[in-house]
Amino acid sequence: MIPFLDLKKINAQYQTELKEACARVIDSGWYVLGNEVVEFEKEFATYCETKYCLGVANGLDALVLILRAYIELGVIQKGDEVIVPSNTYIASILAISENGLTPVLVEPDINTFNLAPKLIEQAVTKKTKAILTVHLYGQVTAMDEINTIAKKHNLKVIEDCAQAHGALYTEKEGHSRKVGCLGDAAGFSFYPGKNLGALGDGGAVTTNDSELAKTITALRNYGSHEKYKNQYKGMNSRLDEIQAAMLRVKLRYLDKETSARQAVALAYLKGINNPLIELPVVEDVNAHVWHLFVIKTTQREKLADYLTANGVQSLIHYPIPPHKQGAYKEWGNDVFDVSEKLHMEVLSLPISPVMTMNEVGYIVNEINKWSL
Ligand SMILES: *Cc1c(COP(=O)(O)O)cnc(C)c1O
Repeated sequence: MIPFLDLKKINAQYQTELKEACARVIDSGWYVLGNEVVEFEKEFATYCETKYCLGVANGLDALVLILRAYIELGVIQKGDEVIVPSNTYIASILAISENGLTPVLVEPDINTFNLAPKLIEQAVTKKTKAILTVHLYGQVTAMDEINTIAKKHNLKVIEDCAQAHGALYTEKEGHSRKVGCLGDAAGFSFYPGKNLGALGDGGAVTTNDSELAKTITALRNYGSHEKYKNQYKGMNSRLDEIQAAMLRVKLRYLDKETSARQAVALAYLKGINNPLIELPVVEDVNAHVWHLFVIKTTQREKLADYLTANGVQSLIHYPIPPHKQGAYKEWGNDVFDVSEKLHMEVLSLPISPVMTMNEVGYIVNEINKWSL
């Protein structure tokens, strides 16, 4: 069976360095918010070209803390609206409701799976305070257009970068910058299966806003800048030393791993040629880091069964749209045509930096042989 993602094989490549880093933390006697976190934050801020990076417990908390900090700073008030794509992973939406804010779902472009700028503008009301844009599956959203809309309506732009570490966006003026510095603040997840994955949970916020960074530094640590003095009703959301040490090792190989993912994606794009299948639309090759390779077919169940029968694991990202989830019963009667269609047709093929070209070739061949 070709697995969807072989995490053991990915981490085995760096075994010696990971074990050394782990031993260094054990020997240090300091396990939470210490030197490894400080160094990782510097290294990841440099990587993303932002002034600040703050390690937190996971990707969901990164987004929760950004919004909470804006509330503490008086930029956003409880009950305000935040625009978010209707087809995102549930965590983006949970971060909004967790803060007592109202998620306003906006349909994606059916081809890129990402927010369609035209529809964003139609969704702006007097209560809208932010756009939470998601670089879904690893492809950067149309940031120039989104930033233009945000400027016009005085909105904050928050990037959900959980699936897009290192993706490059080429701005209208022509220079390229990585995700994480393209809006006002960004949230990253380092869940083991993400493109930059820890060996447990982890997350980070990146931003150039010093007030926001300072507020989140306190909020992630019980709302405290100074031990036993609590300025905010904060959280305990810290990146631990062992995960920071693991991430420092893996960050050094992120660009190499991204290139390997891009090579797999290119082989799929060039090789798959079956009229029953729609391939993902790529707007700019540098702007996609291929967290997932998502195809569309109206015969999804049949294709998934066929792939399983032929030794290929595939997954669905995601089977149920957020507005049809039990958690959001209040949206049960709402209609999001694009999102609903996507949730019925998308299928993710195996993609990872450790797949061999033989495996990719085999999958391409099997898919091209498939007929009803
Ligand atoms: C994984 C993910 C998150 C949440 O990250 P965790 O570290 O699992 O909390 C948020 N948004 C998106 C788009 C994700 O894929």
